[in-house]
Amino acid sequence: MSNLEEIKKRRTFAIISHPDAGKTTLTEKLLLFGGAIQTAGAVKSNKIKKTATSDFMEIEKQRGISVATSVMTFEYKDLLINILDTPGHKDFAEDTYRTLTAVDSVILVIDCVKGVEEQTERLMEVCRMRNTPVIVFINKLDREGQNPFELLDELETKLSIRVRPLTWPINMGANFKGVYSLYEQMLYFFKINKTKIESDVAKVSLEDDKLVDLLGERDALQLTEDVELVEGVYDVFSEEAYQKGQLAPVFFGSAINNFGIKELLDTFCEISPIPQPRPTDVREVSPMEPKFTGFVFKIHANLDPRHRDRIAFLRICSGKFERGKFYKHVRMGKDVRFSSPFTFMASAKSVMDEGFPGDVVGLYDTGSFKIGDTLTEGENLQFSGIPSFSPEIFKELINLDPMKSKQLEKGIQQLTDEGVAQLFTLDLGNRKIVGTVGELQFDVIQYRLEHEYGAKCRWVPMGITRACWLTADEKPAMDQFIRLKGNQIAYDKDRNPVFLAESEWMIRMNRENNPAIHFHFTSEFK
Ligand code: GDP
Repeated sequence: MSNLEEIKKRRTFAIISHPDAGKTTLTEKLLLFGGAIQTAGAVKSNKIKKTATSDFMEIEKQRGISVATSVMTFEYKDLLINILDTPGHKDFAEDTYRTLTAVDSVILVIDCVKGVEEQTERLMEVCRMRNTPVIVFINKLDREGQNPFELLDELETKLSIRVRPLTWPINMGANFKGVYSLYEQMLYFFKINKTKIESDVAKVSLEDDKLVDLLGERDALQLTEDVELVEGVYDVFSEEAYQKGQLAPVFFGSAINNFGIKELLDTFCEISPIPQPRPTDVREVSPMEPKFTGFVFKIHANLDPRHRDRIAFLRICSGKFERGKFYKHVRMGKDVRFSSPFTFMASAKSVMDEGFPGDVVGLYDTGSFKIGDTLTEGENLQFSGIPSFSPEIFKELINLDPMKSKQLEKGIQQLTDEGVAQLFTLDLGNRKIVGTVGELQFDVIQYRLEHEYGAKCRWVPMGITRACWLTADEKPAMDQFIRLKGNQIAYDKDRNPVFLAESEWMIRMNRENNPAIHFHFTSEFK
């Protein structure tokens, strides 16, 4: 098969949702369709039930054994589909944001009872930054949910994206009868069904007398009215608008009952984008280019202290990746090769001899990778679009054992390379400030520093609410600002200056008083 044919076969996407909306259940049903698993229950939820470190460590250990859950690959209708797993827990949102840089589209799961929840809004903001195409799946129709028109309105206002239903539900909860496919003119009847894959269907148009026989007079009338309203209110579905990230098609169903999944998957296969071009610091890289490029979007620690190696997940962006071949590690300026890269077919790890754009390769790493690192066939370019966002909680890292300062230093460097948290250093006294989006990471870092590096630490909370990356048109202006602000200026891992602000008001005031300095809320501002 040619490279072009390989590329056209591939679909790489993530399922995103607020915790509990049904992401794990939907993932599992998709894998069942793809024949990648045979039984329900095979996909382990990566959900953290309690906000407790022990729970997290337990899950991470299990995941460490089966890292396969990070990427799930299956074949369906001649396509090779890669699902990238994202953690649902809010404290690990940054991990999800980074995974979203490695996909070409997403499926967003909404709980019809709860509607659009906080985490959903945040995730969609990230999708919009990159114009990632989105398909919405409204789940749990077997429960008494909100009115579907209201749900769609809520999606449009809270997520700032136009929507277009492609199926329509007939009642909800105890009276849920099924969905009507607006484009196939097909009725899909709902049955409680935890095992079977196909549902009963009837092809019937809304004008057909059979509709009343099938649904009863009241529901048939309601459906006809609803569909009229839908067709009147919403524009016809445009694949182009979807591919540009401007319009989200919407499906209704019940993941746990295997209902509405096939329509979702079939449509996904038809309309979802093939591997897309990606930006770098010098130019855009097209997947069709003959030479290999790729970037690391996730690093998975091996939590077994006897095996310190980590796994770096690399998304292939162009060309062909080959096992054993030398590639350039651009940041380090040296050639590296991998004797046992692996892939995740049928949810088992297996050696990958070659990979194509859209694929994700697992690489064993002994500490030479950071999130965002690029591999090429020699060209000096670095993939961009993997920004860090400002953390929300900041604490100073205090070493509790002076004999172990080397271990602590190494540990915190490696953990922040993995993307567990962000590290800022104050020049004065080399003080280390760690920033995260959730309290849980501080416990995790403390635990891991002790168990993996033998270093003990404690945390001192700091009165900082936001980090702003700084640039200036002229160097002297920056030098002066840095001198003036003293301990409010720290440096990120790449030695970029960062302003640590106590409040939004502080940022505003400093912006007004220092027009020559530019304040940025993400680490990428080109
Ligand atoms: P995640 O946190 O988004 O991965 O959500 P899960 O897939 O773990 O689902 C959360 C809960 O909702 C579980 O108890 C599921 O069994 C349940 N669930 C998933 N889909 C449905 C559905 O269609 N109907 C109902 N009633 N429950 C569902």
